[in-house]
Amino acid sequence: MSGLKIARIDVFQVDLPYSGGVYRLSGGREYRTFDATIVRITTQTGLEGWGESTPFGPNYVAAHALGVRSGIAEIAPQLIGLDPRRVDRINDAMDTALVGHEHAKTALDVACWDLFGKSVGLPVCELLGGGTDVKMPVISGIYMDEPEDMRRRVAEHRAMGYIGHSVKIGGEPADDAARIAASLADKRPGEYFIVDANGGMTVETALRMLRLLPNGLDFVLEQPCATWRECLSLRRRSDVPIIFDELAISDASILQLVADDAAEGFGIKISKNGGLTKGRRHRDIGVAAGYTVSVMDTVGSEIAFAATVHLGQTFPERYLRCVFDCRKLVSRQTADGEFEVIEGRVVAPNTPGLGIMPRLDVLGGPVASYH
Ligand SMILES: [Mg+2]
Repeated sequence: MSGLKIARIDVFQVDLPYSGGVYRLSGGREYRTFDATIVRITTQTGLEGWGESTPFGPNYVAAHALGVRSGIAEIAPQLIGLDPRRVDRINDAMDTALVGHEHAKTALDVACWDLFGKSVGLPVCELLGGGTDVKMPVISGIYMDEPEDMRRRVAEHRAMGYIGHSVKIGGEPADDAARIAASLADKRPGEYFIVDANGGMTVETALRMLRLLPNGLDFVLEQPCATWRECLSLRRRSDVPIIFDELAISDASILQLVADDAAEGFGIKISKNGGLTKGRRHRDIGVAAGYTVSVMDTVGSEIAFAATVHLGQTFPERYLRCVFDCRKLVSRQTADGEFEVIEGRVVAPNTPGLGIMPRLDVLGGPVASYH
């Protein structure tokens, strides 16, 4: 394989307003706008690939928007001249240039996959192992609120065709128990519920909450506590199925999940897990372990969602819990593509690369360029 070289890397910055006003997470965290970094990699032949990394504010996981662009400044000069299709070698070069900072590497990695697909005329999911014909269920995001409001929003998503619901909690144990009971009150056969604490509970509050719940509620508990020790402690003392999200970030942490028998599954967020090259490996570890995996991104626009959809499309159906449509969180569109959610489901388009066409007028001029 020869003949394709990275000649230029341009970095764009876009503010993505939260579509619902103020987004609230456990611990009093509030978000109004998300700072997106979008990357264009151009080869010496003029072929372009695009990638995005949009952290969920600076206090969700160890990622922040200024860090994305600073990380790219460290890495990008080392990628000039490399073949973007040799994705594992690109990641070697990135890991040599900068330790960690997966959110910075994600936009570059995804842009290389987009280029790879365009260079051979295949969708990214085909290069990641081959797309299934699964119409992937998109999960709702039911933010933390009064119990009856959460029940109503679950019903609204149910009416749109959603079969999976992610219910956010992280307050007082009795309040959280009431939120779960209300959100599950009208559960239909075939629906599943993730109760997501985003690491906001202690072992004590989690145990108290579980004891306050009515018996027989059918849900899995996502990322109950912030630390590994707390999650393992809770797991040893409860029978609730657990999935990891914020702590499942790397080869090492996902292997540790398996070694500790700490969960029934985890969530891959493309920018948290370091892009599609590393996300592909996390997929394979998860499938090998018999885990159910959600494929998402922290937040982001069309380019981030495209990466999510292409990776999700390569999971065997029984191991794919859902995909998350991060575009629903933002009110600005950065690209066009055929990623329509129909009756709560989405499939990857059959166009080369990611299948997105950036809106250059929204992106504006680059804030940094490397060549
Ligand atoms: Mg989560």
